[in-house]
Amino acid sequence: MPSPPAGLALRLLFQLILLFHLQADSANIIKYCSDDNFTSSNPYASNLQVLLSNLTASAPTSSTLSSTFSVGTSPATQIFGLSQCRPDVSTAICADCLSDAAATATGNSSDGCGNHKSATLRFDYCLLRYSDRLFFGIPDETLHISVWNLDNASNPAVFDSQLHSLLRDLSPKAASAASRFAVGMRTPEDLDNIYGMAWCTPDLFTSDCAECLYDAAGLLDSRRTGGLVAFPSCLVRFEVFLFFSLSAIPPPAVQPAEAEEPTAQSLALDNGGENAGRKGKNKTNKILLLIAIFGAVTSSTLSAILIILLIRSKALQRIRTRFWINKVDLKNSADSLLFELSVLRKATNNFSEENKLGEGGFGPVYKGVLADGQQVAVKRLSGTSKQGLAEMKNEVLFVAKLQHRNLVRLLGCCLEENEKLLVYEYLPNTSLDKFLFDPARKMFLDWETRFKIIEGIGRGLLYLHEDSRLRIIHRDLKASNILLDANMNPKISDFGLAKLFPIDETQRNASHIAGTYGYMAPEYALHGLFSTKSDVFSFGVLILEIITGRRNSGFQGSDHAMNLLSYVWQYYKKQMAIKVVDRSLCDKFQSQEVLKCLQIGLLCVEDNQRLRPNVASLVVMLSSQSVMLPALAKPAFTGDASICSEDFSVASIDLDLTKLNEKMDGVSGKKDDDHSSFSRNKFKQRFANYTSASPSVNDLTITEMEVR
Ligand code: AMP
Repeated sequence: MPSPPAGLALRLLFQLILLFHLQADSANIIKYCSDDNFTSSNPYASNLQVLLSNLTASAPTSSTLSSTFSVGTSPATQIFGLSQCRPDVSTAICADCLSDAAATATGNSSDGCGNHKSATLRFDYCLLRYSDRLFFGIPDETLHISVWNLDNASNPAVFDSQLHSLLRDLSPKAASAASRFAVGMRTPEDLDNIYGMAWCTPDLFTSDCAECLYDAAGLLDSRRTGGLVAFPSCLVRFEVFLFFSLSAIPPPAVQPAEAEEPTAQSLALDNGGENAGRKGKNKTNKILLLIAIFGAVTSSTLSAILIILLIRSKALQRIRTRFWINKVDLKNSADSLLFELSVLRKATNNFSEENKLGEGGFGPVYKGVLADGQQVAVKRLSGTSKQGLAEMKNEVLFVAKLQHRNLVRLLGCCLEENEKLLVYEYLPNTSLDKFLFDPARKMFLDWETRFKIIEGIGRGLLYLHEDSRLRIIHRDLKASNILLDANMNPKISDFGLAKLFPIDETQRNASHIAGTYGYMAPEYALHGLFSTKSDVFSFGVLILEIITGRRNSGFQGSDHAMNLLSYVWQYYKKQMAIKVVDRSLCDKFQSQEVLKCLQIGLLCVEDNQRLRPNVASLVVMLSSQSVMLPALAKPAFTGDASICSEDFSVASIDLDLTKLNEKMDGVSGKKDDDHSSFSRNKFKQRFANYTSASPSVNDLTITEMEVR
């Protein structure tokens, strides 16, 4: 959004200092309206109404009290919106605050924006933004408002250092929290407690949120006894009184050794270390006691605080602590992998359609929330699949043993009645394909994020191939099997196809082929040979998809390219590889780094598997600035006959397809419409798509579970 006129910021500042002191909790802290208007007859007006009613209705019911939404399809009528409430307020306050904000935004009072196309309104408890331009994920510090208390701190030097230490701690916490919100306190000797808050909009990446908070903290006047700096994208505030609800503070993970005697940290305030923690406990308890006494003789609102206080009392803390210990004990036993069906039914709202996250080859995946608030993803293996049980055992045994930050964690399973359920950690950003191939959401994938994803997949794969006790060939690496956490860190998922290898064995012959068209190495697709190098091939396809933002399967190029690999290869040969980079990156990347990744991607998809690097070398190539990359020979499926002597030609494809036909003749009796079945015709038809420009189908996994 364009910068607001300087005069407006100044005028607002003075207005807001006044407002803030008069009525802090309902004040409109920040307001920005764009210069361009829409007319009431324009579809933009009706789209705005739809957008506002969605934003005000959905945020209060979401777990992070926030939501983003867009309406309209053409650039002239499209409108993007974001609503967010402070995570420490109730659903009712959130709903009230947002409907006030929506009414103010479109109203004609001086507080609102009337018919302006873009508006940003920040209230104490909520934020509402909309614009005709896509602003999601773009940090906005164009307008800032500073408000401060007129009283000076009695010992400015100590106060300043304690305040900055608090904000230094809060910023990374807020930036990495799903709610992008953190609160905390410091208890300096002989001074009032300092309470702090750091809060970003939920669309920001961790690094952008941290940067915004850092900039905001730099503008605070830390000699005062209270103050606030707000940008459209983030806000920091401090006071010498408790201005947020303690309910915002999550319970800490209690260590078993400390469990019987909870420390002050169980109040979960950021209090700057253990000693300060002990002191913080005493001070906080004193404050809470005072609030309690005051509450008893005054209002019912404060009784609510009293209840929060009681929940955090020592007695209840003990109960909670015991619960944690039991959980820890349980986790240590084999039974900890088993979940009760009733628990998972409740968590997923009886596997309701609204909770459905996606559907893979083995069945749908649902979001669930366990009784203790933990979010999980529950994969419901298709009841009709004969091999479901074997598949499940495979996943549970292997995946539960594998722990790496770039692998999705399997928490357990359930085998009750006819259900076969796998319970995984929940990854809030679901899978890479949902960003990479979606024109609006791919904006979230800047180059740094894409590179981080490539590197993370490489590290996860290295662990599978070499660093874990077992050698695991994934066999179905693809964009929909790369899940993304809140910070867009990649985690490889779906080990249902993983093949356990004795460590000295490097290549096997699969009697049935399993995997996904578009990602399968030629020797695997045609001869059933799989090895770590066939995973490397799939990784290469993924790298090229991440750089170009285009799918390999179903590739449609205007350049007479047969598939994504040949498309990239053609440009690479003409030394114009930079042209294939995803346009949505808007040239915001380091060309050298992108070209290096592109070359690495092409190396991984070498036709001759011996020329493909192993993952250990790939990880080094990716992380090193100066490593010399091997020269490229000839990527698979490019139909390029002029590169080397072992030419790959259409004739050789035909030959191999003949072999394939023979191979397929041994496989029969499977239904075409079964995701988890194998079909010769389907395979032949899809394999042909590697070599023709015709549009293909989406990335379905073909599985043959009994062979494992
Ligand atoms: P899968 O059957 O594992 O291929 O999962 C199908 C889809 O469900 C994936 O592409 C994701 O979009 C979603 N999904 C699977 N597992 C998770 C998870 N642990 N957290 C969030 N979304 C998931």
